[in-house]
Amino acid sequence: MKRFALILGILVAFAWVVDRALLPQQGYQPEALQGVDVKPESLRYFPDNYAQSRERFRQLRTLSPSRYQVQGGLFKVSSSDEDLTVDWLHFRSNAPRLVVLVSGVHGMEAPTGAAMQQLFVDMLRAGQLPGDFDLLMLHALNPYGFKYGRRATENNVDLNRNLDTTAALFANGNHGYRQLHDFLLPQEPVDLSRWENRFFAERLSLKLLRNSRDAIQEAALSGQYQYPQGFYYGGDSFEPQQEFLQQLLIDKAAPYQSILFIDLHTGFGTRGETHFYPGNPATEQIRRDMEWVFQDYEMVWPSEASGFFPIRGDLIGFAGKLLAAEKRFVPIILEFGTMDSLATKGGVESLHRTVLENQGHFHGFLSGQDRAEVQRRYEEMFYPSSGRWRSKIIGDMSNIYPQVLARFLQLEEVKPERGDLNITAVDSGH
Ligand SMILES: [Zn+2]
Repeated sequence: MKRFALILGILVAFAWVVDRALLPQQGYQPEALQGVDVKPESLRYFPDNYAQSRERFRQLRTLSPSRYQVQGGLFKVSSSDEDLTVDWLHFRSNAPRLVVLVSGVHGMEAPTGAAMQQLFVDMLRAGQLPGDFDLLMLHALNPYGFKYGRRATENNVDLNRNLDTTAALFANGNHGYRQLHDFLLPQEPVDLSRWENRFFAERLSLKLLRNSRDAIQEAALSGQYQYPQGFYYGGDSFEPQQEFLQQLLIDKAAPYQSILFIDLHTGFGTRGETHFYPGNPATEQIRRDMEWVFQDYEMVWPSEASGFFPIRGDLIGFAGKLLAAEKRFVPIILEFGTMDSLATKGGVESLHRTVLENQGHFHGFLSGQDRAEVQRRYEEMFYPSSGRWRSKIIGDMSNIYPQVLARFLQLEEVKPERGDLNITAVDSGH
C-alpha cells in the first residue's frame, strides 16, 4: 500500500512537471468565441497601424452628416519622433447634448478605440443613433504608445493614472506595489526559458500566501508613483496631454447642458465581452446619472468585495472635475475584455505578460525570439488578431451605442437632486 502511494505520488509529480514544462511553449490560448461568425464588414473598422488609423480618423471630417459644422485640430506631443499627434474632431450643431468618444488613453488599446469611433460615425450617418446631439472625438490620446506598441507614454507614464486638476496626485503611495516590487520588476534581460518565467503562476501563488490578494490587486490597478520604470506608473508630474485636454474639454463642452463621455479601453475583463466600469464618480449626482443611463448593463463599482480598486488620476475622473459642476456629466469606461483577466488563469497570464513587456523594455531580451514572443503576447492582450473577437465587439457596440443614447436622452426627464454638485475628493480608502 505504501509502495502504491509512492508510485502514485511520483506519477502525479511527473505529470505536473511535464504539464508545467510544456506550458511556456504552448503559451496561453484564450478560449475561442464559439458560435461567433467572422464578418468582413466588421473587420474593416480595425486599423493596421497608427498612421493609417490617424488618416482614417481625419477623413471622418468629410463624412459628417450635413446638419453639422465640423471643426478639427491636433495636438503635437513633444518627442524625438516629430510625427506624434493627438487628433480631434468636433461635429457641431445647436444640440443641447454632447457625446465625447476618446480612444488610446493607453496606446496599445488605441486601434480598437479608433475602430469604435469609425463605427459610431457610420451609425450616425446611417441614422441609427437616436437623439439630437453633437460629437467630440479624440484619436489616440497616447500616440507614442499606439505607434510603438506600448500601453504607457514615451516617459513610461500610464496616462490613466496621470490626469488630475492638482499635482497632489503624485504624492500618493501604493503599499501593495512596494511589497511586490521585486516580483513585478525583475532587473535583468528577459529569458523566457528561466524557471522564474516557467513557474510564474506558482511564484505568484506563494506571494498570495504571504501578501493578501488585495495587495496584488491594488498593486496592479491603483497605480503607483514610486517606480519610474514600473508599469502603472502615474508619473511625477503631468504629461503634456493634461493641459491640452483641460483646455479642449472646457472650451468645447461650454455650450452643452449634458455630456456623455465614453473612454474606450481593451484588456480587462472577460474575452469578447464589453464591460462598463464607472471609475470613481466625483459626486453622488454623477453616480445616480450613471446608474440611470447604464441601467441595462452590469456595472462594477470599486469596492473591497468586487476586488476592483478605484483608480487614481484617470481620464473620466479628471473630466468630471472639469465639467460636472455646471452640467449633467455621465462618464463611462468601456473595456473590451481580451484575456479573461477576471478568472485566475487569465489574470495570472495578464500579469505575466505585463511584467515581461515592461522588463524587456527596460532591460532587453536574451534573444530575438524572446523579444518577438513577448511582443506577440502583449499585442494579443490589448489588440487581439482574432476575427471572431473583433466581429463580436463590433456587433455588441452596434447595439450598445443606440441603447445608451436612448437612455441618455431620457435622462432629461430624471430630475437632478441638487445640493451635492460641489466636487469633493472621494477617498479611495487605500
Ligand atoms: Zn486601458
